[in-house]
Amino acid sequence: MKKQTQAIHTPFQERDAYNALSMPVYHTAAYEFDNADDMADAFCGRTTAPDYSRITNPTVTYFENKVKTLTGAHEVIALSSGMAAISNTLLAIAATGKNIVSSHHMFGNTYALISGTLRRFGVAAHLCDLTDIDEVERNIDGDTCCIYLEIITNPQMEVADLSKLSRLARAKNIPLIADTTMIPFTKFTAKALGVDIEVVSSTKYLSGGATSIGGLVIDYGTCTDFGKRMKSEMLLNFGAYMTPHVAYMHTIGLETLDARYRIQAGNALDLAQRLQSLPQICRVNYIGLPDNPYHALAVRQFGDTAGAMVTIELADKEACFRFINKLKLIRRATNLFDNKSLAIHPASTIFGNFTDDERRAMDILDTTIRLSVGLEDVDDLFDDIKQALK
Ligand SMILES: *Cc1c(COP(=O)(O)O)cnc(C)c1O
Repeated sequence: MKKQTQAIHTPFQERDAYNALSMPVYHTAAYEFDNADDMADAFCGRTTAPDYSRITNPTVTYFENKVKTLTGAHEVIALSSGMAAISNTLLAIAATGKNIVSSHHMFGNTYALISGTLRRFGVAAHLCDLTDIDEVERNIDGDTCCIYLEIITNPQMEVADLSKLSRLARAKNIPLIADTTMIPFTKFTAKALGVDIEVVSSTKYLSGGATSIGGLVIDYGTCTDFGKRMKSEMLLNFGAYMTPHVAYMHTIGLETLDARYRIQAGNALDLAQRLQSLPQICRVNYIGLPDNPYHALAVRQFGDTAGAMVTIELADKEACFRFINKLKLIRRATNLFDNKSLAIHPASTIFGNFTDDERRAMDILDTTIRLSVGLEDVDDLFDDIKQALK
């Protein structure tokens, strides 16, 4: 079956008592057992019967199974946010004295986690240019526990060569961990590009229009004991498993993901092309544009769509604020891949609490506006942008 069909028709793990056509929301903390033997078997992992919803729940398992079918993963774990997916993954892989090889270019909270929070626990950050494979190699030493990157960095939109990084990671016997939030996993195969573990903020495309916060860890089984540790240690001890109601919403979101994504990515390309004609915009950054420096690599890795995040450069910070304040249709909000189009000035918001030096190191510019392109008609979006630039 093709992916879109699988996304709709994944069978339930057990037949529902009432033959419900949608996976019911099992809002329960615990599950009852007939006898002590069954109870012992469930708690010790000898059966798959659920015991407690901090680590397993039929509605969440159904969502995980859908993602497993679509990605060919060995193990999929749903968590309470994208940051929970990222932090639990890194806490499972890292230890005191180890280091993480990554980039200055990434989502603000991930940067703060890797360069700040984990440092307090004795995990160092080796931040380098992931598009320069020799520099990456120089940053790997005997204590490196992984290479971590975003497939299209948010908001700089840098793309590194995953196959090259994967070959290097394999040679050094460390996993390649990729945040694939920017392109849905239905559109490309991270495993084929050599990614060992995918982390995703399912808040974004999957949630079906910004309904709720969630995250996914997609494990391809190439990193010894990682999936097992996630289930038997991280979920139990950190307690960040997805809740059943969120799993229900993200399941419905996953069923319409392909349809929504096709329109949003198409709108983003159309809008990016039109924005290039406006004299007030100094630069349009979208990897779907053929003149983008990462276009050819992105096509090779992710196929013919480039996501729905577009950034534009205006003259200065004042011009950015004026523009944002004058928008009438496009909403002033963070988040990505809502059904509604959104605009934000990253330097003063997501990256607002970093120092000027840190922002410079991350290439976060005062002149950048980040747009998340929604499902509206592009004519209306273009009109709104034109009037806001006047
Ligand atoms: C939003 C985002 C995150 C964090 O996800 P949450 O669900 O908000 O915790 C991580 N990585 C990227 C690339 C994101 O865009």
